[in-house]
Amino acid sequence: MLIVQKYGGTSVGSLERIEKVARRVARSKDDGNELVVVVSAMSGETNKLIEYAHHFSRTPSKREMDILLSSGERVTASLLAIALQEMGYDAIAMTGRQAGIKTDDSHTYARIESIKTEALTRELEKGRIVIVAGFQGISESGNVTTLGRGGSDLSAVALAGALKADACEIYSDVDGIYTTDPRIEPKARKLDFISYDEMLELSSLGAKVLQNRSVELAKKMGVRIVAKSSFSDSEGTIIAQEDEKMEAVLVSGIALDKNQARVSLRDLPDRPGIAAEIFDRLAKEQINVDMIIQNASREGMTNLGFTVPQSELARAAKVIESTGHKIGSADYDENVCKVSVVGVGMKSHSGIAAEAFKALASNNINIEMISTSEIKISMIIDEKFGELAVRVLHEVYELDK
Ligand code: ADP
Ligand code: ASP
Ligand code: MG
Repeated sequence: MLIVQKYGGTSVGSLERIEKVARRVARSKDDGNELVVVVSAMSGETNKLIEYAHHFSRTPSKREMDILLSSGERVTASLLAIALQEMGYDAIAMTGRQAGIKTDDSHTYARIESIKTEALTRELEKGRIVIVAGFQGISESGNVTTLGRGGSDLSAVALAGALKADACEIYSDVDGIYTTDPRIEPKARKLDFISYDEMLELSSLGAKVLQNRSVELAKKMGVRIVAKSSFSDSEGTIIAQEDEKMEAVLVSGIALDKNQARVSLRDLPDRPGIAAEIFDRLAKEQINVDMIIQNASREGMTNLGFTVPQSELARAAKVIESTGHKIGSADYDENVCKVSVVGVGMKSHSGIAAEAFKALASNNINIEMISTSEIKISMIIDEKFGELAVRVLHEVYELDK
């Protein structure tokens, strides 16, 4: 079998852990598999590099950030290859460019456009274990790019798709996908199976166990993912097409996204085009606006509220300060979070949302913004109630049963 394995930050978080991963990889090689192994930076490393950059600038240039951040994954890829070589295995480390990963040029959040697998295939044919530095690629103009936080998952799925691998195994410190983050709710239950659509919602809404883009690509390319632990040999969770599943559950999980910030603009002139202009400028700066609320206007003035990822708040503030319009006041709040209920079964059931609102209200948790889709309900609340809200909702929908 040709297997793509991906080991995340905690799995390669120390030299001892890298050694353990090397043994796991070696075992799979001994079983007769062909292996491409994608690795993340050692845990904490990417954050440390970002802090270094912020020492010099609040808004460092994205091109330089990519060169900086891509280095973390290279460290682990080369160390893992060296560890395997020392154990007598023929292994070779590659950067994203060497592995043929071509992206567009949106620095720090680049999209993979194609993968030239020739070099990889050549090494596999020589019987080598190929170790690829995750999270990175190369743009048309030859610049190093990175694929967004958690992007090594995307590298793994894209490689599995391009190589038509028989399996794509994503290893982390949890043994699969749970009904919610087991660190927040110890009663969370491990799922044997979750559909691409539900997983996509959970990851887009903050469950960082898999990067949302990687799930999106897995669905598009039909790559079946198995999420497993690198710390144990337990079964893991399969992420695949919905129809493979026996029964559709009502609610499959709760997600919490703490990386949210709210922008509130008060006393904005209520003229056509102003909101459009603000959001257009934010989009040009590649700032992802999520929930938007505009109040009914009074005396020609209106209020506008929306959320952006915390990491983009400083840039959003810059954009707003530079609009020519007279804004009464702009305030920025980092102390909010988004809690979401996800489940494909919601499509055909009403009343799920009402239950969520009631449960939060009876715990005195105020909901500041709401958005819903066919298969999710998201609520913006005070950050300090985030984890409590997760537990309350987990209980209401009896997810531990
Ligand atoms: P890696 O560094 O290996 O990529 P991550 O830290 O990105 O791993 O993802 C694993 C973490 O995701 C777990 O430690 C867990 O706390 C968190 N997590 C959040 N939501 C879930 C969920 N629904 N199921 C499992 N883990 C989750
Ligand atoms: N090291 C990168 C991050 O921390 C990518 C990854 O781990 O997947 O976001
Ligand atoms: Mg991750």
